[in-house]
Amino acid sequence: MFFRMNTIIEPFKIKTVEPIYFTTRDERAHILRQAHYNPFLIKARDVIIDLLTDSGTSAMSSEQWAGVMRGDESYAGSDSFFRFEEVVKQITGMPFIIPTHQGRASEKILFTIVGGIGKYVLSNTLFDTTRANVEFSGAEGVDFRCTEGMDPALDAPFKGNLDISALQSFIVDKGIADSSMVMLTVTNNSGGGQPVSMRNIREVSALCKQYQIPLFIDASRFAENAYFIKLREAGYETKSILEIAQEMFSHTDGCIMSAKKDAFANIGGFIGIRDEQLAEKCKNLLIMTEGFLTYGGLAGRDLEAIAIGLREVMEEDYLTYRIRSIKYIGDKLDVFGIPYIKPTGGHAVYLDAKRFMDHIPVCQYPGQALSNALYLEGGIRGVEIGSVMFGKYAIDGSLIPPSMELVRLAIPRRVYTQSHIDYVAEVIVEVYKKRREFNGYQIIFESPSLRHFTARFDPVLF
Ligand SMILES: *Cc1c(COP(=O)(O)O)cnc(C)c1O
Repeated sequence: MFFRMNTIIEPFKIKTVEPIYFTTRDERAHILRQAHYNPFLIKARDVIIDLLTDSGTSAMSSEQWAGVMRGDESYAGSDSFFRFEEVVKQITGMPFIIPTHQGRASEKILFTIVGGIGKYVLSNTLFDTTRANVEFSGAEGVDFRCTEGMDPALDAPFKGNLDISALQSFIVDKGIADSSMVMLTVTNNSGGGQPVSMRNIREVSALCKQYQIPLFIDASRFAENAYFIKLREAGYETKSILEIAQEMFSHTDGCIMSAKKDAFANIGGFIGIRDEQLAEKCKNLLIMTEGFLTYGGLAGRDLEAIAIGLREVMEEDYLTYRIRSIKYIGDKLDVFGIPYIKPTGGHAVYLDAKRFMDHIPVCQYPGQALSNALYLEGGIRGVEIGSVMFGKYAIDGSLIPPSMELVRLAIPRRVYTQSHIDYVAEVIVEVYKKRREFNGYQIIFESPSLRHFTARFDPVLF
């Protein structure tokens, strides 16, 4: 293993670059106002370091770009599909592989079939689009996050785990017939990018078999999860990432994946399924909504980029760099006692906005306040994961907040260098020092689902 020194070296050289446009604080104040204080509505050009998401923002390798040229654009039976299918089958062991244009298209297809009124989708934590698709089908999504996962300050190895006994009581209480599926999100994105242990996967799988409930994995960050298992779980130290991933999938009946995450692709996704009948139903919907079986809403060149990216993401020099560079930010925050979810996860740092902005009440969205402050001070764009994203309204119109108010700073794969990250840490520290100067917000416009994407805000002045 190369990493014996303290300095993190990016395991790549840069072949193509793209400019960053700088703005002044005054310009950013104006831009923020124009964007109705919602970073989703800011133009990318006006952002200095964009940590909104790690989704579709990866830098592709020279091999992937070569694959793009090689892409076979045949409507049916393209070579690129078979190369894609081979890799996905090798990793997941699923006999039926269905390409989609991104993760949520997989969700839409799957939950149109297995969801519906009176059904439940049970999870460690459903991702926001997953939950939206579950609920749109009429089904209910229920999260059973392990207790360690609820405490942002607690340092534990597998805070992404599902609470098995809570799941079991729920299944027994509700009667098994209604529980349509268990979906394990690895790593647990909304829960802090925290990994799920192999032991937890195995135990959830045993429980699902006992009650005959299918178990699926939302595998968007399967390689980061496998790497954490290798680092932290006894018995996996000498296994390859591929072997660990194969074992993770071996305990399940299917998977969905957004290839915009751990496949280094800018677009793409898939569904992997063991059961032939379910696969047939998905394929019928695929043809209606996405495209033919061998491209599913993607160009041949995209399938090629995904096939190559899936192999690259399992390289350990990459994963070592990836996980260490996220921890690097956490270590810098520790020096100032800045609150974030510990330990740092796979793809992002999650600032604990409730404690960071402890002068702003939850009903004035401390996460929104923090993400706007980071933009204003340093042109950094993160995303609120708290009451704006997951808040609900009680009958009297008051806010029902989720358990945590977070700001996620997701790190795009292979995009920023250590000096960019040093800058990010510096801005966070600066905002922390003058945090009491920042105000909360109220929502003045929102859409009925996934409101965080388009909501508009007004500052609540002191
Ligand atoms: C991104 C993501 C999705 C949705 O995928 P898209 O490609 O953005 O549609 C689903 N689940 C998880 C865990 C994700 O991170």
